[in-house]
Amino acid sequence: MKIQPTLSPTAAPVPFGGIVSGLAALLCPRSRTERLKQELREALQVEHVFLVSSGKAALALILLGLQQLSPKRKVVIPAYTCFSVPSAVVKAELEVVLCDVNPMTLDFDRAQLERVLDDRTLCVLPTHLFGLPVEMEHVRALCRARGITVIEDAAQAMGGVSEQGWLGTTGDVGFYSLGRGKNISSGGGGIIVTNSAVVAQAIQTEYDTLPIESRWSAVKNLLELLATRVLIHPRWYWLPAGLPFLGLGETRFYPNFPIERMAEARAATLSGWRERLEASNRSRREQASSYLEELHRSGSEARAVTAREASYLRLPVLLRDRSAKQAFCGRAIALGLGVSPGYPSTIQHIPELQGRLAPGEYPGATEVVDRLVTLPTHRFVRPLDRTRICRVLEEASLDSGREVVEDGTSAHRSVVKAASGG
Ligand SMILES: *Cc1c(COP(=O)(O)O)cnc(C)c1O
Repeated sequence: MKIQPTLSPTAAPVPFGGIVSGLAALLCPRSRTERLKQELREALQVEHVFLVSSGKAALALILLGLQQLSPKRKVVIPAYTCFSVPSAVVKAELEVVLCDVNPMTLDFDRAQLERVLDDRTLCVLPTHLFGLPVEMEHVRALCRARGITVIEDAAQAMGGVSEQGWLGTTGDVGFYSLGRGKNISSGGGGIIVTNSAVVAQAIQTEYDTLPIESRWSAVKNLLELLATRVLIHPRWYWLPAGLPFLGLGETRFYPNFPIERMAEARAATLSGWRERLEASNRSRREQASSYLEELHRSGSEARAVTAREASYLRLPVLLRDRSAKQAFCGRAIALGLGVSPGYPSTIQHIPELQGRLAPGEYPGATEVVDRLVTLPTHRFVRPLDRTRICRVLEEASLDSGREVVEDGTSAHRSVVKAASGG
C-alpha cells in the first residue's frame, strides 16, 4: 500500500443529503420507491419502471420475464462487456451467445451480429459502454424482422442521449445500474424501463414474486455510503485501494446474486437524482473534452474512442499494443492516477463459462482487451492530474516502442519490467 494522493477510476458519491434521506426512510417508512418511479417515468418519458437491487438483478428479471413470452433461449451479448452481464444470463438459466465488437466504436461487429442471430435468439443486448451511445437503429431493424427483443444495456449511460432519445429507452426494454462506479449511485441498485405493455406485464409477474431487500442490507448500505463519501476522496482513496479484500474495481463472474425489490431507504438516497445525474454527466463530458484537446496537442498516438453526445463515464483510449498498455497501466497505477485497464478478458475466456459457449473468434474484443485503457473523468480529477496522465501516456508509448538504452533511463526500464511482469 502506497500512501499518496490516489484517484479512483470512477466516483459518484451520494451527497450527505441523500444519506440523511436514506436514514429518515429507515426510521419513518413512507413510499420513496413510488415517488422515484414517478419521477423516472416523467423524466425519461417511459410508461413502466421497476426498481431492483442491482443492475444485474434488473437484467436477470427482464430475462425471466421474456421467458414467459417466448420459448427461445439465446441471449446475444458483446464479447467485451462487464462480467455481470453473462452472470445475469446464467442466473436466468439462458444461453450466452457472444458477438464480437468493433474496437473503434465498442459497438457490435455488424457482420457478425447478422450471422449469430437465428430462430433460437430470444434477445440482443446493445451496450453503451463507458457512456458511448451505440447504433440502435441497425440492431432494432435486424431484430424487428426476426421477432427478437432488444434489451438496451444502459448500465453505464444513465442520463445520456442519442437522436432517438434517452439511452435506455430506445430498445424494447432497457436497464440502468446504480452501482458504485456508475453515472449516479445509491451504493447499488438497478432500474428497468420499458414502453412495452407486454414486456412490462411479463416483468411484473416475476417482480411480484420477489422479496424486498432486507432492512439489514439497507442499514449496511447507508454505512457503506458514508464510508465511501470519505474514502473516495483522492486524499484517502489509497487506503481502500490498498486493501485487497475490498476487491475495488474488480469485475467478477458471479451468477449467485440476489434478485430483490429495491428497499425504500435505498430509493430515498436517490433524492435529487436528476440534478446529480446532470451535474455528473456534464462534468464528465467536460473532462473528456479537455483530455481530447490535450491528447491532440501532444500529438499522442493514443487513440480515444469517442462518439457524439457520449457522457464518458470513463474515457476509453486505445494504445498501440499490449506492451504499450502494460507500460502505461503499470506506471499510471503506481502513481495513483485513476487509470483502469478495463475488463481483464473477453467474455469468451471467463473460466466458469468454459463448456457453455459455442466456439467462436472474437478478434475485435481481443484487441480491446489488449489495447484499451480508461481514463478517469469524475469530478475529483484536476487539470494537473490530466496533464500527468497524458504525460505518462507519452512516456509509456516511447518506452515500450524502443529498446531501452544504457543511459539515464533506468527508472523507465524498471517500470516497464514491473508492468510486463504483472
Ligand atoms: C455495471 C454493469 C452492469 C450490472 O450492474 P450492477 O449494478 O453492477 O449489477 C451491467 N452491464 C454493464 C455494461 C455494466 O457496466
